[in-house]
Amino acid sequence: MAIEQRILIAGAGPVGLTAAANLVRGGVPVAVFEAGPDLSEESRASTFHPPTLDMLDRLGAAEPLIAQGLTAPQFQYRTKRHGVLVQFDFGAIADVTAHPYRVQCEQSKLTRILYQQLRGAPNFELQFDSPIRHVAQSSGGVEVTVERKGRSETRSGRWLIGADGARSDVRRSLGIEFPGFTWPERFLVVSTPFDFRTVIPDLVAVSYVCDPERWHFLLQIPGLCRVMFPIAPHESDELALSREFAQSLMAGVVPGISRYEVAHVTLYKVHQRVAKVFRHGRAFLAGDAAHINNPLGGMGMNGGIHDAINLTSRLVGAWRGSEAESELERYDRQRRLVTLEYIEKQSIQNKRNLESDGIEFARSLAEIAADAGRSYDYLLRVSMIASLRRAQELG
Ligand SMILES: Cc1cc2nc3c(=O)[nH]c(=O)nc-3n(C[C@H](O)[C@H](O)[C@H](O)COP(=O)(O)OP(=O)(O)OC[C@H]3O[C@@H](n4cnc5c(N)ncnc54)[C@H](O)[C@@H]3O)c2cc1C
Repeated sequence: MAIEQRILIAGAGPVGLTAAANLVRGGVPVAVFEAGPDLSEESRASTFHPPTLDMLDRLGAAEPLIAQGLTAPQFQYRTKRHGVLVQFDFGAIADVTAHPYRVQCEQSKLTRILYQQLRGAPNFELQFDSPIRHVAQSSGGVEVTVERKGRSETRSGRWLIGADGARSDVRRSLGIEFPGFTWPERFLVVSTPFDFRTVIPDLVAVSYVCDPERWHFLLQIPGLCRVMFPIAPHESDELALSREFAQSLMAGVVPGISRYEVAHVTLYKVHQRVAKVFRHGRAFLAGDAAHINNPLGGMGMNGGIHDAINLTSRLVGAWRGSEAESELERYDRQRRLVTLEYIEKQSIQNKRNLESDGIEFARSLAEIAADAGRSYDYLLRVSMIASLRRAQELG
């Protein structure tokens, strides 16, 4: 069978569609296969970091995202007892990013923006209700088995990007291990339209509250505040998802306020896993298919978008013949190492910091905040710019 001249992508999440947008922009034909009947509406990641916005800007997607989101130049750490421990402002790194702030906006807004822009492009095709179930490779291309309306179809392409999420069928079909661990506690996100700034005047849009028993963080998105709590192993899913339980957790956020309007409640398991390899022949893994981590620091989706841009920039070069195919190996080297060294390590450390009483953590943060050079480096790390620089250094 002749190989179709396109790149195949499994999954139309933020990573799959960013990959598609960058390939189409580079003149490469793309076919995306999405398991669901439409783009996901799930309430999941909601933080876009400065370098991610810089990347999306080159795709024409940052401006509409910013227009639909909330710009958050500052973030803070607090304890309930001491109030603000320390606050940082991304304005200090305005010399290295065109977007010295986070944008708080649900990931489903990004996928809609990208799809809107890609729709109708002659090099772009997206099929819903079409999960990729099996991958086979030859020296010149990849063949995938797509399930459609109860039947199996075969499609082919020169390369395949598995951006099909944490339970990736592409990863399973390629036989790539996904080692790591699952935290014993789960995380509960309670979303409320309540404006906490009316009762906590010095609150900023991103606020982490350290507490050894029930740390939490408050993330403002347009019209809603998302409050995240850890749920202990002995607290059942049924209990955690009950409205009364959510109210009891929320009652601990601000003394004296106990009944909140709750828009929705989401409970989820949290993992730290990194695929053994991000490349197998002509197939690649990106985003959650390649790595998953706890959401503290908002690095999951951002790291996935960084994967998508790194990989597709190389694939455009390989497609045009301006970059040797052997160069594609760098994707695995750069992104996998950065994921291990930076995203996994930092997200685990962020969790440990929040679980502490905040005293030691506050001392070290105060030292950083008092020193302009250290604050600058800290902001480069938190914004993920340091991880991108590290990836470049890896060659
Ligand atoms: C409940 C929840 C809350 C989260 N909160 C945060 C947060 O606050 N901050 C943060 O940084 N991260 C968070 N995350 C993680 C973040 O959502 C992910 O990192 C991000 O969605 C990764 O994007 P992705 O495109 O790689 O995968 P996904 O968004 O999972 O997209 C994968 C897509 O592939 C499709 N698909 C699945 N199987 C197949 C197949 N076989 N063939 C074709 N298509 C397939 C799926 O339907 C889906 O549309 C959260 C995750 C969950 C589950």
